[in-house]
Amino acid sequence: MNINKLHLKWKVFLFLSGFCVLLLTILWMFQTVFLDSFYRNIKIMQIKSGANSIVDNIDNKNLSELITGISKDFNVNIEVIDEKGHILYLSDVLNDSVIFKMSDLDRLALILGAQNQKGEFYEYVTVQPPRRPGRNEGFTGRLPFHEERAMQSLIYVKLAVDSSGQNIAVFMESVITPLNATVQTLRYQLYFITVIMIILATILALIIAKQVSKPIEEINKSAKELAKGNYGIHFDGKGFLEVSELSNTLNTAAHELKKVEDLRQELLANISHDLRTPLSLIYGYAEVMHDFPDEITKEQTQIIMDETQRLSSLVNDVLDISKMESGMQKIDKVPFNLTKRVKETIERIAELTRKDGYQFNFKYEEEVMVFADEISIIQAFYNLLVNAINYTGEDKVIEVDQVISNETVRIGVSDTGNGIASEDLPYIWDRYYKVDKKHKRAVTGTGLGLSIVKKIMGLHDGSYGVESQNGQGSTFWFSLKYEKIM
Ligand code: ADP
Repeated sequence: MNINKLHLKWKVFLFLSGFCVLLLTILWMFQTVFLDSFYRNIKIMQIKSGANSIVDNIDNKNLSELITGISKDFNVNIEVIDEKGHILYLSDVLNDSVIFKMSDLDRLALILGAQNQKGEFYEYVTVQPPRRPGRNEGFTGRLPFHEERAMQSLIYVKLAVDSSGQNIAVFMESVITPLNATVQTLRYQLYFITVIMIILATILALIIAKQVSKPIEEINKSAKELAKGNYGIHFDGKGFLEVSELSNTLNTAAHELKKVEDLRQELLANISHDLRTPLSLIYGYAEVMHDFPDEITKEQTQIIMDETQRLSSLVNDVLDISKMESGMQKIDKVPFNLTKRVKETIERIAELTRKDGYQFNFKYEEEVMVFADEISIIQAFYNLLVNAINYTGEDKVIEVDQVISNETVRIGVSDTGNGIASEDLPYIWDRYYKVDKKHKRAVTGTGLGLSIVKKIMGLHDGSYGVESQNGQGSTFWFSLKYEKIM
């Protein structure tokens, strides 16, 4: 059986049961194997403390009350004798007392033992149990219960001197083997404890398992839905911190997946629209030209050329971004004159859009060199410029400026268009993101231009950004480290 394949609840149950077995084993050990020695040590401690308190109060005239009390409390026989062997006090609570039956010689031996050992001495004696009346002797009904095993008693003697200078000996006796009845009681208790613990462990295991595994099972159910492509699913893990953190993470993941999926679908719609429209225009005009070869006009060929251009830039954008994303795009850094290249690009675009009436202004103070991939950087600038053309206002003015500060050069492209709402600003650099969801052909775009800029700047350790407010135009910029021209 592979333990990793086990249901959580069974695992919890297994661990809890193991813990119970361990606890019970310890309990059984103490109640059976170690019981005798525990009992004996406790008894010895009690006897010693009792003897001490008798010796401390040896001159008290009410000593007999104390002796009776101790004797009953600890279940010990006590005998106090003076040096002539006269019994001063006596308390007899045990049956079959050994000390009372001792001969004077035995007592003397004990006292001598004590004299040799700092005033106290003890020894163990084994007491055979009285014979048990058996059934085979003709008895019926309830028979008296006697210990079956031999019992051990402890005989203890402590020497003292009273205020009149007389030597006193305190004898004490206690059974130090736990009584069968006590052992039996403990056993029964243990049976009960065992049963109760097994039941409790089972209940606890079920409760814990339910508490722990239920939310996980639910998250798993939702995760399976997510795997099926249902990105709208909500993870609702409650119960403990880890689960709620896990479900927060999964919610974020689901949200991100949904965003990507939405964008992907939008892109598909857009791209298919973007591909289909020029293609059908090209086909339409080509058909006309085919049918009426004598009536071919310049406008018709121009439209075919424009649409082909549009198609190829779309295909190029898609290729560029996928190349950059897959890490296949290698950048080839060379020193080049950024200012000059920017100027050339503006002039080229101005030439191309001359008939549309755009006005471009380029402000710069000095020419700067940068060490970068020339084609990529100009492409980034080109993308910003094309966006500015697409989104600028009625006056069709586009400002480009070059600002040099410390070690960086910043190229900014400003337009007079509607600007961008602040809620869209964080997303415009994402792939396929378009503020205007309704596809307007008047404004071209694949939603890839800015993400290409972002990638190029990432590859150059450059920075990029936008300053824009709704209704007030935008300034898109990027900046790079520059090299001083000597
Ligand atoms: P697109 O090909 O759609 O222009 P981009 O990645 O270049 O894609 O831009 C993403 C979005 O950012 C655009 O759809 C547009 O909504 C917004 N945007 C980009 N440039 C400008 C600008 N100069 N003025 C206003 N909005 C802009």
